Amino acid sequence: MENKKLTTASGRPYVEHENSMTAGERGPVLLQDYILHEKMAHFNRERIPERVVHAKGSGAYGTFTVTNDITPYTKAKLFSEVGKQTKVFLRFSTVGGEKGSADSERDPRGFALRFYTEDGNWDLVGNNTPVFFIKDAKKFSDFIHTQKRHPQTNLKSATMVWDFWSLNPESLHQVLILMSDRGTPFGYRHMNGYGSHTFSMINAENERVYVKFHFKTAQGIKNLTEPEADQMRTTDMDYAQRDLFEHIEKGEFPKWNLKIQVMTEAESRVAKVNPFDVTKVWPHKDYPLMDVGVLELNENPQNYFQDVEQAAFAPTHIVDGIGFSPDRMLQGRILSYPDAQRYRLGANYEQIPVNRCPFATNNYQRDGAMRIDGNGGSEPNYYPNSFDSIVVDQSYKEPALDLGEHVVADHYDRNGVGEDDHFTQPGNLYRIMTEEAKTNTVHNIVGAMSGIDGPKREEIIFRQLCHWFRADADLGMRIAKGLQVDVSKFMQ
Ligand code: NDP
Repeated sequence: MENKKLTTASGRPYVEHENSMTAGERGPVLLQDYILHEKMAHFNRERIPERVVHAKGSGAYGTFTVTNDITPYTKAKLFSEVGKQTKVFLRFSTVGGEKGSADSERDPRGFALRFYTEDGNWDLVGNNTPVFFIKDAKKFSDFIHTQKRHPQTNLKSATMVWDFWSLNPESLHQVLILMSDRGTPFGYRHMNGYGSHTFSMINAENERVYVKFHFKTAQGIKNLTEPEADQMRTTDMDYAQRDLFEHIEKGEFPKWNLKIQVMTEAESRVAKVNPFDVTKVWPHKDYPLMDVGVLELNENPQNYFQDVEQAAFAPTHIVDGIGFSPDRMLQGRILSYPDAQRYRLGANYEQIPVNRCPFATNNYQRDGAMRIDGNGGSEPNYYPNSFDSIVVDQSYKEPALDLGEHVVADHYDRNGVGEDDHFTQPGNLYRIMTEEAKTNTVHNIVGAMSGIDGPKREEIIFRQLCHWFRADADLGMRIAKGLQVDVSKFMQ
């Protein structure tokens, strides 16, 4: 290996890296030791704001390869032909814990995937679950507060968590998945990823369909039971990071098979469940999975902070041929993700290598902290102008969204008539579980609900039990038994 000179950040080679300059052998340190200042001042600034959610994560680069033709649905260039490959970056994460928390916590897992396409970066910022706890982004901060620490005790609080969930039965579907052993997956390689929201696909004729994205693990589903997850917390709190990194280092590249479900716009108007409600899935028998391609992770980043910590995903980043849907959670995330990244990394976060589009970007954004891409050079910084060659390409125009004739803006109840069945789909899930999965799920729920305390304990437990009963009577009975609740009293 070739020797390199030790230098300051400005490139000046220097000698003394360990001893401060002092007035005399045992005297005070001199102000002019700028190397000391530079080392300490930079060290003080090593931490950037932790993500409010998804703080603990692991990431890797890889490749997406198209195996099946879906051009009848989308003109997105990354899907343009079978065999086409696109570079990707995928960041996994837990959600509620801080950056130093354990990988085996019961929590959804983030599955944030970036495709570096020639039409720009496409971020599919999903989870390992097909649904979410709430269906309107206006509820997000309230929900997340319950998953974090109590304002007085600074402790996690089962009371806050179940108080919120029991008052928001729309959470039930996601809570059941979380309480099954899929809430503690065996690392990141053995779980599925889902786009969760409904998105649009737009084809070359500018026709729109709605889609759901499913990434099915090729390694097979593997979970930790609750005792195994508890044990893992003490033996290796970073095991998911270690498992992912070491398998990629060994050349054992994890893979996922991408599949989509498709719904036409006409079908979306008469679908039995609101197709834009992220607390619901589209039943497979009505909307069968179609094969699309294979995702492979095959390259560990050389530097964790540079690529994983600074990775800044946003569902806002879509490409031609992929669009949004009226899903209220998705609409909220279109605002909140880039906003969070501008706060965390600065206005020019999209110039950091992992975030930078490797293809051309041309616009009139200028200046801001840490601008490093040439800042438009001497080109005009306004539009329209008579000097540059940036043109608007009309072929990228999305088809208009038909909202019907008499659309009235209002604060419509997300759980209004026809939108308030929070129980059928969780019940369906419970009923397809194996006996072992049911037993473990009930055990996990009883354990978690046993932590509810304080003067409202009974009220919260009764309210939540009611939801479990409405999903499935057997599920409700087994949880009530585990919590030693007198069901006859509860029935009154
Ligand atoms: P299917 O029998 O066709 O599908 C059931 C799905 O459930 C499979 O995709 C399976 O995933 C998944 N699954 C099994 N155990 C769990 C678990 N503990 N947590 C999360 N997912 C699990 O039935 P339907 O499409 O009619 O759906 C029935 C229920 O299955 C739904 O209400 C929903 O709760 C759940 N589900 C449905 C999905 C969908 O998109 N339709 C997606 C995921 C879950 P796998 O194949 O990977 O083992």
